[in-house]
Amino acid sequence: MEKTVSGKVIELVIGDITRQRVDAIVNAANSTLLGGGGVDGAIHRAGGPLILEECRAIRAVRGECPTGEAVLTGGGGLPARYVIHAVGPVWRGGDQGEPALLASCYRNALRIAAEVGFQTVAFPSISTGIYGYPLERAAPTAIATVAAFLSLETLAPSRVRFVLFDPVTFATYAGALEAL
Ligand code: ADP
Repeated sequence: MEKTVSGKVIELVIGDITRQRVDAIVNAANSTLLGGGGVDGAIHRAGGPLILEECRAIRAVRGECPTGEAVLTGGGGLPARYVIHAVGPVWRGGDQGEPALLASCYRNALRIAAEVGFQTVAFPSISTGIYGYPLERAAPTAIATVAAFLSLETLAPSRVRFVLFDPVTFATYAGALEAL
């Protein structure tokens, strides 16, 4: 399913983000940048040790990556050329700034993509796995934040693909995209 926003496309697919042949995939990273479970583990497994090496080098210079922010590495052995490691918020009940942090995570990932000139970027459903962000709340925030960025920023990627791992996550994002 897809929708066009100011001439740019938001696309939803069910699939594995490590298999996407795009300019950049986005990793649902944690602040350590040293890898973890879920999509993070899958990306490092599929992409090989080079990605972790680059993460370590960034960490040595800048320290941990704060929640809501993002950093860029190469794609190692992945079909994607680059990985944008974005740190989503852990769900702590919803009154700890989670919606703003989730939105800033998508925005900062897209800002890096726009700066480098990426045309195609693929996102997973950030924070809705191990970080426990309720899917029905995360999906509208994710979709609305991406749509706003695409309509406001002329240098934004021309195609943003959400790669959703299971049918329930896909259906929830589809509902949010339809409602946009
Ligand atoms: P977080 O820690 O930000 O919650 P997770 O990786 O635990 O991140 O989960 C985020 C989402 O990514 C979940 O919906 C999970 O099912 C999904 N996911 C896990 N592996 C993959 C993958 N290979 N491709 C796409 N999505 C994935």
